[in-house]
Amino acid sequence: MKLLSAFLDIIFPPRCLVCGRPGPEPMCSECIASVEYSDGVPLYEGAMKEAITRFKFERKRALLNPLSWILITAYNGDGVDLITAVPLFSSRLKERGFNQSELLAERLADHLGVPSDFTLIERVRDTRPQFDLKRHERLSNVSGAFRFSGNDVRGKKILIVDDIMTTGATLSECSKALKEAGAAIVIPLVLSKTPQG
Ligand SMILES: [Zn+2]
Repeated sequence: MKLLSAFLDIIFPPRCLVCGRPGPEPMCSECIASVEYSDGVPLYEGAMKEAITRFKFERKRALLNPLSWILITAYNGDGVDLITAVPLFSSRLKERGFNQSELLAERLADHLGVPSDFTLIERVRDTRPQFDLKRHERLSNVSGAFRFSGNDVRGKKILIVDDIMTTGATLSECSKALKEAGAAIVIPLVLSKTPQG
């Protein structure tokens, strides 16, 4: 197997999945260094936007490692009881085969040694991606789109992960559902945010 993989490396040298430079990492150090931050959160532009797009839509699963590493280093909060993620609508989940925010949240949960639960919130209707919409359309787009569907979360401190934040309307709708179910504190954590918010 070692020989085979060395042989394959000669024919198809490994490349950065974001910029295409030859190298062993799925996201090279140049791409990681080029990521711009605002208030500690990567901006959804340049290499970051490329990486998330390829991870989500081109199913480049190897990018989960560098992206979750970026999320883990960005989190410097206190301990939480439970980690969850913004859910996808069922048909979208079926089509994509995975929920990118869930995969990121799972890695974070492993790293922090905290349990994760992805049954807490259900997306009851499909919504358009927030970054496609005008500002005034974003609130109504996600309003009432989520409902609590999990077990008892009363008094719990819950961290909720999303991959791209636009206005924060999606996360605040999810937080609302968790708080209505009795969660004590809900902390949003995003991998990236759109530059204008
Ligand atoms: Zn690169």
